[in-house]
Amino acid sequence: MAASPELSIMAIPRTSSKTAGIGMTSTRTRDRMLARLREQGIQDEVVINVMAEIPRHIFVDEALSIRAYEDVSLPIGYGQTISQPYIVAKMTQLLRNGKQLDKVLEIGTGCGYQTAVLSRVSNEVFSLERIRPLVMKARNHLRTLKCTNVKLDHADGSLGLKGYGPFDAIMVTAASSHVPQELVEQLAVGGRMVIPVGTSEQVLHLIERTAQGIQKTALEPVKFVPLLGGTALS
Ligand code: SAH
Repeated sequence: MAASPELSIMAIPRTSSKTAGIGMTSTRTRDRMLARLREQGIQDEVVINVMAEIPRHIFVDEALSIRAYEDVSLPIGYGQTISQPYIVAKMTQLLRNGKQLDKVLEIGTGCGYQTAVLSRVSNEVFSLERIRPLVMKARNHLRTLKCTNVKLDHADGSLGLKGYGPFDAIMVTAASSHVPQELVEQLAVGGRMVIPVGTSEQVLHLIERTAQGIQKTALEPVKFVPLLGGTALS
């Protein structure tokens, strides 16, 4: 990171073959997803409204777009997945805690769907992804949706983003065997982090940093791809 402070989504062509697909899924399909989120206990209407607005189908391959509003994770290539809508909503609701966020760090950009959701509830989002072609994919999607307050980088996010914090929220969208100390250190006092912890069995954790120290709460079982060290070019 120190060597490449230029985190930008601007180097992306304005047109995308997927732009044509925006609006092609029926409102009824999307409405069903929103109703399901409410049934599953999502209460933050800001999060629900943002998810109503962001077309999830443009983040997946055309062949899968028909399934984009089902409550499932879907493959995005390179052995990775786009998280199921419920998890995206739940993690965003936990970080927001009823308030607009200022500076947010996301680890595991993937195709950029969760990043797009975060961009609408935060002033500034930094997102790190270890697989280079996914960074390019996500840039394209975020450019299409005009998420101009997002900065992406190809990096190992388990180390966080030194020099850009402290962050008032950190979201980790890959499962870690432990809570990385580097991330805790980059959390502002009063800040919140959500992170899946575990290997074969994972539990979503909420980490809160207070003036007194760190509070860790185990929430619910989840299933994420693993948080891996280092970066990959393909
Ligand atoms: N946020 C995505 C979920 C993507 S899946 C969504 O909106 O659905 C998790 C992503 O984390 C994968 O793309 C994987 O490559 C990435 N990842 C795993 N370990 C990482 C690390 N150490 N640093 C950055 N990204 C990582």
